[in-house]
Amino acid sequence: MANPIPKATEEVLSTLDLSGNRKWIYPTPSHGRFWRARLVVGWVLIAFFVALPWIELKGRPAVFLDLARREFTFFGLTLHPTDTVILMVFLLTILVSIFFVTALFGRVWCGWACPQTVYLEFVYRPIERLIEGKESQRKRRDQGPWSWDKTWRKWAKLSIFAAISLFLAHTFVAYFAGWENLLHWMSRSPMEAPGYFFMMALTTGLILFDFGYFREQMCTLACPYARLQSVLMDEDSLIVSYDRSRGEKRGTYRERKKADKVLDLDDGEITFGDCIDCGACVRTCPTGIDIRDGLQMECVSCTQCVDACDYIMDSINKPRGLIRYTSENVIDGNKTRVARPRLFMYAALLLGLITIFVSLVATRAPLELDVHRASGTTYNITADDDLANRMSLRLRNRTAEPAELRLVPTSPQGAQVRIVGDQQPLLPPGEIVRFEAWITVPQDVLGPGAAIAEFDVLLDGEVVDTHSVRLLRPQNSP
Ligand code: SF4
Ligand code: SF4
Repeated sequence: MANPIPKATEEVLSTLDLSGNRKWIYPTPSHGRFWRARLVVGWVLIAFFVALPWIELKGRPAVFLDLARREFTFFGLTLHPTDTVILMVFLLTILVSIFFVTALFGRVWCGWACPQTVYLEFVYRPIERLIEGKESQRKRRDQGPWSWDKTWRKWAKLSIFAAISLFLAHTFVAYFAGWENLLHWMSRSPMEAPGYFFMMALTTGLILFDFGYFREQMCTLACPYARLQSVLMDEDSLIVSYDRSRGEKRGTYRERKKADKVLDLDDGEITFGDCIDCGACVRTCPTGIDIRDGLQMECVSCTQCVDACDYIMDSINKPRGLIRYTSENVIDGNKTRVARPRLFMYAALLLGLITIFVSLVATRAPLELDVHRASGTTYNITADDDLANRMSLRLRNRTAEPAELRLVPTSPQGAQVRIVGDQQPLLPPGEIVRFEAWITVPQDVLGPGAAIAEFDVLLDGEVVDTHSVRLLRPQNSP
């Protein structure tokens, strides 16, 4: 008998049994048009991921999250801890972009771009198939006793997985440590750089565990983004969905034939839909669900069931799209509303944040400067009867190039700034430089009250900042 109108009846995750034990799934690949497009997108993303720490822009890796020095470089823009507002706006922009894209396109990130999906479907699973064979063979072998055939295949797979995980771990860590440091550490004995070896072993182990064993559990159990779907999406968001009105009443060939006979006998009416209940969409699903049960949290919008069902529809001469990208509203017989309040709100917020981010970056000072009195000092009176204060300066050159520093006093008249010692005021890019300087002012030009000295800060001859400092002076000054 054909299934009734489907309802979500599962009480536990599709990959767990009723007692909570893992059910290992063997999804069959469906090499349709979406799979081919995802393959291209996936490999372009992999190429980017691997290349970005190697590509240099303005002398630094294109993306470099230097946690040790608390510097974050994105395509030539290096942010420091003092750029808190820019960093905050940047993170907010990413967050609102996720809201916007999810409201519009549903879980397109999960199916097309998330490293979990990309590496699992286009790197690890193909290797598994190559070594252990098709899904049915793997399942039979996994359920059978240990044999030489099973053992060598498992070890070969594990070794290749471990090598790829090691490479991915290095690439991942390169985003935080830089390839230069990595290559340096790699050339050392583990005893000389134990931190590096521990970090690399841990990252490799986690990647291997994830792609070798944990797999879809990451999406269904661990990923917080999956849990947020119900909040981020609405009935107009793009989802992969089964067209119930077209597919039901589903029935296999046998059920249809049987129904034909009944029809001949009692002249009744049984109308079948386009779904022939072949199960191809379920067998191909990497999270083990049946899309015909409706929208489910486990669905990562990978479109594998779309490709599987399109193939079936082609073979029975029915139009494609029984499972397709659509919205819940369309499935319920309404129209998708693209223009809707939450989208306008996200778009406006996003536009505002991007504008703020761009203007903050564009007006960002090329130099960070702090001036304090040198510790333990007050004031000196020089042989020429000038007032002298020793100041401590902390500078960071925020540009991508080394820059020569000059401090040019502008007020009061006759003021001088002299850097202490032989320090060369050439500021390397991004680095903090500290030095001390004497600020001297002729006492006779100082009026009553506070003694303020002002100086211009020049980088490579260009004024980038003007700074004023309050000088300590004798109490009995006029
Ligand atoms: S239901 Fe379809 S789109 Fe969703 S995860 Fe399974 S195969 Fe992918
Ligand atoms: S692949 Fe298509 S026809 Fe086959 S069971 Fe799934 S929805 Fe029905």
